[in-house]
Amino acid sequence: MPALPEHAVETATLSKTYASNGRRAPVEALRGVTLRIPRGSFFGLLGPNGAGKSTLINILAGLVLKTSGEARVWGCDVEREMRRARRAIGVVPQELNIDPFFSPRELLEVMAGLYGVPRRERKTDEILRAVGLEDKAEAYARSLSGGMRRRLLVAKALVHAPPVLVLDEPTAGVDVDLRRQLWAYIRKLNAAGTTILLTTHYLEEAEALCDTIAIINHGRLIACEPTEMLLRRLDSKQMAVTVEEDLAAVPESLRRYHGELRGARELVFSYPPSKVRGGEIMAAIAAAGLSVREISTKEAELEDIFLSLTRPGSAEGAQ
Ligand code: ADP
Ligand code: MG
Repeated sequence: MPALPEHAVETATLSKTYASNGRRAPVEALRGVTLRIPRGSFFGLLGPNGAGKSTLINILAGLVLKTSGEARVWGCDVEREMRRARRAIGVVPQELNIDPFFSPRELLEVMAGLYGVPRRERKTDEILRAVGLEDKAEAYARSLSGGMRRRLLVAKALVHAPPVLVLDEPTAGVDVDLRRQLWAYIRKLNAAGTTILLTTHYLEEAEALCDTIAIINHGRLIACEPTEMLLRRLDSKQMAVTVEEDLAAVPESLRRYHGELRGARELVFSYPPSKVRGGEIMAAIAAAGLSVREISTKEAELEDIFLSLTRPGSAEGAQ
């Protein structure tokens, strides 16, 4: 038994350019993405539509060929050791395509057969129960609702008990109750050791579930850190105030706004806009007897991206 890999998924300067097809120009879907997903984590890959999330996942799943760079799943190169990499990963795809003539039970049995899972090791009933489809085990897939199909796709990704489970925007079209049920189950899998990679364009969903969040935009990784740190960083704003007076130190009354002195006359404050208003700092400056010459503010870089990601209506999530 080989040692368990430190990283369940690892990419190095991974790039993908989809070739032009006559009508459309080539698309650089991934531009040098270097990412490490620790074994056992619940990892969120966040980004707006078209950011490159599905491309990354499809490369990991062996469905799309990379243009350059490297990608490993469970220590196995996705191209040179394709078979082993594929056995280690279960992917719940973004699209709801299911063969309409299979019942859920047949579908899981067929999949298990394809993966070469021996009959006595199959967990068809257990998986169907876990995703709440035991009552529909013999129904035609075409008679299943959108939410049921989504859960069937989760079940299908689990037949070979992969150590890495990837969910590509799994909650589109799933109602709130089922979503909760689905997450409860995914959490349980994670607690039992399965590494989860979830893509979403909902910050709130990633926030609630993931221990680490990476953000991708236009094919580039723009952040990757523990969820708490990222959230703290998002709620941060800087205000630089130039005053008329020469200062030797930050006045005592302004220390609570994390003021720093740059040169003799510039004070730079860092504060969480959700808790402190800029006007409050301005009032404190006046109260300290200083006169303001100039002010400039700067948001955390990611804030705009997150606002655009989480603004209702911008997400195109109601597909
Ligand atoms: P996301 O999943 O984050 O929405 P995708 O990985 O699906 O992003 O897409 C990234 C970019 O690559 C988009 O500009 C998309 O139009 C393009 N793209 C995705 N798949 C293909 C393809 N098969 N052929 C050409 N372009 C593609
Ligand atoms: Mg996608």
